Amino acid sequence: MEEGMNGGGRTRVGQGYDVHELIEGRKLILAGLQISHPKGLVGHSDADVLMHAICDAVLGAIGEGDIGTYFPPSDAQWKDAPSKIFLEKASQLISERGGRLVNVDAMLIAEAPKIGPHIAAMKDNIAAALGVEPKAIGIKATTNETMGFVGRGEGMAAHAVASVDLPDFSVYQWRHRLETT
Ligand code: MG
Repeated sequence: MEEGMNGGGRTRVGQGYDVHELIEGRKLILAGLQISHPKGLVGHSDADVLMHAICDAVLGAIGEGDIGTYFPPSDAQWKDAPSKIFLEKASQLISERGGRLVNVDAMLIAEAPKIGPHIAAMKDNIAAALGVEPKAIGIKATTNETMGFVGRGEGMAAHAVASVDLPDFSVYQWRHRLETT
């Protein structure tokens, strides 16, 4: 694929957002790291709120629904699943379309713990799951200034955007029609 998609490609963006509740008795997993904290996020999978928001951003950039489309919480096989498999699937979908993930930028909103010391390892985990260099991944974190459910430590939220270069959409559609008819 040509750099910058010269000759008919398109650069697309997607956004993702996710929230999970924090309770005692669960491990806290963020971007594939287990982080020491009195509470962990609740969810059917490992509840990795950061990876979930990133997955939805990537899927959105290629127009492929959301994480629940591929990994419905009603399906027992995803119980306690490591969320990197969701990112690996999103990366596979980009490859199948002849595309390339340009970059991801994500923001975690959590009152505690401090995220700064973990950011480099988080970038490595996300980059590995998406098959890109860590420099293509941005992770930032902020508190909610003690306000609302995040500020009270009842949950964490994450936003993400992703940019993907895809071959010309009409060409892709044409190929897809050839393959499926
Ligand atoms: Mg989620």
